[in-house]
Amino acid sequence: MSRSAGRLRVGHGYDAHRLQAGQGVTLGGVWIDCDYGLIAHSDGDVLIHALCDALLGAAGLGDIGRWFPDSDARFARIDSRVLLREVMLQVHAAGLAPLNADLTLIAQVPRVAPHVDLMRARLAEDLGVPSALVNVKATTTEGMGHIGRREGVAAHAVVLLDAAEDPI
Ligand code: MG
Repeated sequence: MSRSAGRLRVGHGYDAHRLQAGQGVTLGGVWIDCDYGLIAHSDGDVLIHALCDALLGAAGLGDIGRWFPDSDARFARIDSRVLLREVMLQVHAAGLAPLNADLTLIAQVPRVAPHVDLMRARLAEDLGVPSALVNVKATTTEGMGHIGRREGVAAHAVVLLDAAEDPI
């Protein structure tokens, strides 16, 4: 189906989690050693959670809380890449596939720049696109607000879906 047929779908996702003292965090599917930890039912990977919501939004499939309720013990401490892959199964089932994704992490800590390339590679693997089509940006709030006080981190994600060439 051609793009002119109107199958392009844009989606946006947002997530935030609290920080506490700890031994490290998982962001973008990458473990980062640091003096913080994320408080969450899952592993607290805000980048992946925002990405999942963007995918679900673009496909018209609700949100991550509907698919993976935090009241369900099956999802306790779960690797968020497992959730992302499940979301991708639903996206494919809807006859759609990602064209690209653009993610923004908003965090005063930890410093993620050295990990961005690996994040892109892992997210691209789960999305089934080349890593060049998954962009990961990071910004601080220059010390302002709750993120600046290191009370938490947040992320935004935007994705574009198109009709899958080979619908599963
Ligand atoms: Mg979350």
